[in-house]
Amino acid sequence: MTIIDGKKISNEIKEELKIKIENAKSKGLGVPGLAAILVGENPASQVYVNSKKKACEKIGMNSVVEVLSEKTTETELINLVKKYNETEEFNGILVQLPLPSHISEQKVIEAISPEKDVDGFHPVNVGKLVIGLETFYPCTPYGIIELLRRYRIETAGKHVVVVGRSNIVGKPIANMLLQKKENANSIVTIVHSAAKDISQFTKQADILIAAIGKPKFITAEMVKEGVAVIDVGINRINSPESKRGYKIVGDVDFDSVSQKAAYITPVPGGVGRMTIAMLLQNTYNAFIKQKEI
Ligand code: NAP
Repeated sequence: MTIIDGKKISNEIKEELKIKIENAKSKGLGVPGLAAILVGENPASQVYVNSKKKACEKIGMNSVVEVLSEKTTETELINLVKKYNETEEFNGILVQLPLPSHISEQKVIEAISPEKDVDGFHPVNVGKLVIGLETFYPCTPYGIIELLRRYRIETAGKHVVVVGRSNIVGKPIANMLLQKKENANSIVTIVHSAAKDISQFTKQADILIAAIGKPKFITAEMVKEGVAVIDVGINRINSPESKRGYKIVGDVDFDSVSQKAAYITPVPGGVGRMTIAMLLQNTYNAFIKQKEI
């Protein structure tokens, strides 16, 4: 059994990007830039945005974080997005979700120029993904593709079962693996909460992707011998013995499932480590495209 090391792979990607950015800089092409916008004081969002900024700085990418008050109106936010659409030095724009309830997330996402939509959430980019055109892949599914690719896990002709159909993980990863392309070309099944017995599907998986949001939901009885398991879940559970009083676990019961799996991602240290790396990759890709290099 191989444990898929998201920390190692994400560091490799960041190192590769750092070198590419140094090269671009030395050729006088400038460096990629990411503008992140945060509305309100959600502590988790603050942590995410700050770690994205730090990650940019580490690889020589330019970044700015705009922190707006909870009371910001939808129009004010959209106007700021539009300002960054027109600012050449920022190639990617990220609006940290969730937004306060008086602001329509969909309207804000649609205000981002599709060329700068490094989260890959704009309907134009979602549509391009579905029909197999070049686009920005949403960062978490993109990270999954990179893990599979870099661990040389065959996807072509394999049965991938995705548990979960969210717009940020389940649907995009299913669509990406469905494409008749390298590192894809899979037979894809998506299951969700309407399924009466999900194990009849999960047991068939050569590759099982769990994006459910329920701690240790997938157990050994639900998978077949030799499966490759990608656990997207990030769940906080009580853990009186740990310093913080809680610990983070995935959607997969790692201890039992790892006895049967050929490959498995740990939580933490698996898919979660990849998301920021792929955001940086998307921002670099946007820079290359916009500079027409
Ligand atoms: P979500 O929007 O809540 O979607 C969860 C999906 O799981 C839904 O499609 C839901 O079905 C399905 N589901 C729930 N209970 C089920 C059951 N009993 N049987 C079958 N399907 C069931 O969650 P998400 O945003 O995709 O996130 C999923 C997990 O990944 C969370 O733990 C989240 O924290 C984590 N996550 C991690 C990263 C990262 O690593 N960077 C990024 C994003 C998310 P219905 O559609 O029928 O409700």
